Amino acid sequence: MRRLQFRIFCLAMLAFASPVQAAGALEVVASFSIIGDFVKNVGGDRVNVTTLVGPNGDVHVYAPAPADAKKIADAKLLVINGLGLEGWLPRLLQSSGGKAPITVATNGVAPLRLGSDADPHAWQSVANAKIYVANISDALVAADPRDAAAFRANAARYAAELDALEAEVRAAVAQIRPEHRKVISTHDAFGYFASSYGIDFIAPSGVSTEAEPSARDVAKIISQIKSAKIPAVFLENSGDPRLVSRIAAETGAKVGGTLFSDALTDEKGPCPTYIEMVRHNIRTLTSALGN
Ligand code: ZN
Repeated sequence: MRRLQFRIFCLAMLAFASPVQAAGALEVVASFSIIGDFVKNVGGDRVNVTTLVGPNGDVHVYAPAPADAKKIADAKLLVINGLGLEGWLPRLLQSSGGKAPITVATNGVAPLRLGSDADPHAWQSVANAKIYVANISDALVAADPRDAAAFRANAARYAAELDALEAEVRAAVAQIRPEHRKVISTHDAFGYFASSYGIDFIAPSGVSTEAEPSARDVAKIISQIKSAKIPAVFLENSGDPRLVSRIAAETGAKVGGTLFSDALTDEKGPCPTYIEMVRHNIRTLTSALGN
């Protein structure tokens, strides 16, 4: 409950600290911070991006504020992740009465499954992030055709940065001994990272931070860590840190640092952009799992 109040407080602060608006800029609402960063990179100064779930927010269990309905009502375009991530969105859309087109940024991504659901965390593969960017570029061009050339040029430049990032991730993972490429994290946010880059992530809770692991799940994970000799467990910026700390204490695995999965930080934090987030995560993984 305290966390929820804190989150609402942060949102209230964000509402007042709105950025300087470029004249005539296209009003775009992104469902959460990572998509907001993609839209900023493609839109540049021709868009004004507002994110609903802000820095360090938990997009799985978000409780929309009244101001969010107004943001959606004022938007010319809404960009969401889809794959079941924004379960709170349909009700918000209904209450906003907004008519803006909605772009599902994961269109064209090959979804992984987790149990009976799609795994929504597709952005954790950099190759998928390029699909997000292509979808966002198409959506901005459709919403504002006069700026099409600028959007396409920005998207091409950013896609090249993502290609370089993909190469960095692969080079970093290659430095980790194959038998060390396994970690524990707080929820199943890294399935796409794991399948793209070959690091096993074992999560003590389900796909969503809403799911609390049972005592039996925790006991199972503890024995898994011991028998598989998993070297490190990791915290996440938008999960509950107590569970991972407890697992570390009971298994002797070290806490390898904080991985960022579902939210960027603000400008003062280590991951204010998607590219910085991925770099931070690979640095954290290689330093904890290194030889
Ligand atoms: Zn998540």
